Amino acid sequence: MRELRLADDYQQARTAFRGAAEAAGAEMEAHPHPLQGPGGEDLAVDVAVVGNPAADAALLIVSGTHGVEGFTGSELQRRWLEVSARNCPDEVRVVLIHAFNPHGFAWVRRVNEDNVDLNRNFIDWAKPPPANDDYANLAPLLVPDSWDEDTQQETTTELLAFAEREGFEQLQHVVSSGQFSHPTGVFYGGTGPAWSHRWMRENASRLLSPARRVGVVDLHTGLGPSGHGELGSSARAKSSSFQRATTWWGDVRSIVDGDSVSATLTGEWLARFDDFVPDTEITGVGLEYGTVDIISVLQALRADAVLHAHGDPAAPEAAAIRAQVRAAFADDDPRWIAKVLLRFDEVIAAALTNLASDG
Ligand SMILES: [Zn+2]
Repeated sequence: MRELRLADDYQQARTAFRGAAEAAGAEMEAHPHPLQGPGGEDLAVDVAVVGNPAADAALLIVSGTHGVEGFTGSELQRRWLEVSARNCPDEVRVVLIHAFNPHGFAWVRRVNEDNVDLNRNFIDWAKPPPANDDYANLAPLLVPDSWDEDTQQETTTELLAFAEREGFEQLQHVVSSGQFSHPTGVFYGGTGPAWSHRWMRENASRLLSPARRVGVVDLHTGLGPSGHGELGSSARAKSSSFQRATTWWGDVRSIVDGDSVSATLTGEWLARFDDFVPDTEITGVGLEYGTVDIISVLQALRADAVLHAHGDPAAPEAAAIRAQVRAAFADDDPRWIAKVLLRFDEVIAAALTNLASDG
């Protein structure tokens, strides 16, 4: 059995995932993305399916919704294939989606090829996007024209002064709840359904059919105490979906009712998932692992946004910023990885037990 180790890059993660899926006898699909990674490598959403194809229940495990967060998610999926796939209960099929946002993973970004945060992109595009008027005031501070020492210093001081004045929660809300007005900004929701959004809409139902009960675990990193894995639901605390989630997993926070480590937000893919797989009972959570402190995460996201708005992401200097982003969202310390894995196993075991017995 291979020791747990986060991949150096997307290509390595993808190869390891596909190798483990093949060894586990999984059915596999690769859905090519139209663009390439920084080394000219092909990008794809890979899917591995394990277990009884006629099962009434399915568990969907997703990595890389926020590209760079796939370093951790991919390794957890790889290990599940290697160690746990053979113990998959006969009543449940397991569908693993590797690198839901492959461009972000390869370019070591949280966002996708359009600078879009996938978890702000799943709004109802038939309506005007939600307003976030306060974002405009902070936009030039968050993503200034350059990222030299002085500019970093000045803009960061001003942002911290805003937090001092209005409260840190208000800063977090304005910055990260999602915005649709500044395409080069942070937590940008886009102008329409993103490539990955359309991919999910076109494939989810087919991949999960004929299951009528579906559990979803969407893997994230970058928020909360280091190594801690919090479960967040995009369902209202009073909904049956949320109640089921707490029955399965115990402590689950409602992201829409604003009591989780995340800011209250709109446009999460899990919030729209019911529409993609109709007549199916969905019990879904995001599993969010803490890495470093929230300021370091924000600084990494700002550096990345400035690079892609005003710099050259293909230039050699960009490597330092990619390293900064990776360090903010993935931790190579074996103790961190061990903690993350323990929590993952616990969450997946609870999901499989409930899916196998609920019918
Ligand atoms: Zn995330």
